[in-house]
Amino acid sequence: MRDRFEREINYLRISITDRCNLRCRYCMPEDGVEKMEHSSILNLEEMARLVNVAAQAGIHKVRLTGGEPLVRRNISQLIRYIAGLSEIDDIGITTNGILFGAVAEELQQAGLKRVNFSLDSLKSERFRYLTRCGDLEAVKKSIFKAIDLNMHPVKINTVIIGQFNDDEILDFADLAYNYPVHIRFIEFMPVGDLRFWKKERVVSSEEIKSRIESRYKLITARRIAGNGPAKYYQIENGQGSIGFISPMSNHFCGECNRIRLTADGRLRACLYDKTEVDLKTPLRNGASDAELLDLFRKCISKKPAHHEMSSGWGIENERKMYQIGG
Ligand code: SAM
Ligand code: SF4
Repeated sequence: MRDRFEREINYLRISITDRCNLRCRYCMPEDGVEKMEHSSILNLEEMARLVNVAAQAGIHKVRLTGGEPLVRRNISQLIRYIAGLSEIDDIGITTNGILFGAVAEELQQAGLKRVNFSLDSLKSERFRYLTRCGDLEAVKKSIFKAIDLNMHPVKINTVIIGQFNDDEILDFADLAYNYPVHIRFIEFMPVGDLRFWKKERVVSSEEIKSRIESRYKLITARRIAGNGPAKYYQIENGQGSIGFISPMSNHFCGECNRIRLTADGRLRACLYDKTEVDLKTPLRNGASDAELLDLFRKCISKKPAHHEMSSGWGIENERKMYQIGG
């Protein structure tokens, strides 16, 4: 379905839980995370039904995110259901990787073909500090497991934070040179726990790229399946590639193709727009597929032209990244 700015909306991201087994400093406060009531969270059958309706609205790509999607039990059942829908040709997850290694085969058998890991440091101590409890070795094992299982593409999302991990830019580039992984550098955004975010800590994609070019030649790459707003480059003679996602320095809203479903059943047309369409209430009150489809259409028709993140959005937004799904 096209929105009023002629963008084709075909991608649904679902935050399947607001819970997480890590506490990344820029995303969640250490304690006092207000968890949603269990009953207010959609169950997996409800999510499956909404994906089915979304498919009728033109969605053919789905990503499960969170919170941490792998803390939710029976996720492979949901993956199996979604992968079995004829309209859906692409299903992925975004995970911090801690639990992935143990369930990788099960997820693959359910129909998962690709995975995005989030990893901001290759130094154990720093990783533990940033995540407040994470074990880097577990994440590394998961990444290599995904490579061994021939999942494709294996992407690693890395948020570069000035004066914190920008000294690791070349280490991440080395990873993409040595292994068939796609490293995507994401500009640090004023969302989540804002005590950690500061304007001076944003390192632009341009700056990151020029630092990588001090070691590697980057060649504009072919499109990678589902590469969304990232700009991709092949590393000359390397196995993987490098991408840049630049929400701060370069609006990519004109090409945005996505909508988002929160764990408590609200549809958002934009990560950065507070407007939400409640699907859970009608769903639980017995709405028909046609009625739910109308609500999807209503949401898509309200999708804003571009985000307002630089105008203090993060401060005003009551919902955090782990609630909407990053
Ligand atoms: N827990 C999963 C994970 O970490 O991959 C999925 C949810 S997490 C909210 C999704 C992504 O959002 C992560 O890659 C994380 O780095 C990113 N993210 C969260 N807060 C961010 C911020 N302030 N700026 C940029 N990216 C952010
Ligand atoms: Fe959890 Fe992902 Fe947020 Fe880190 S970024 S606290 S792993 S939801």
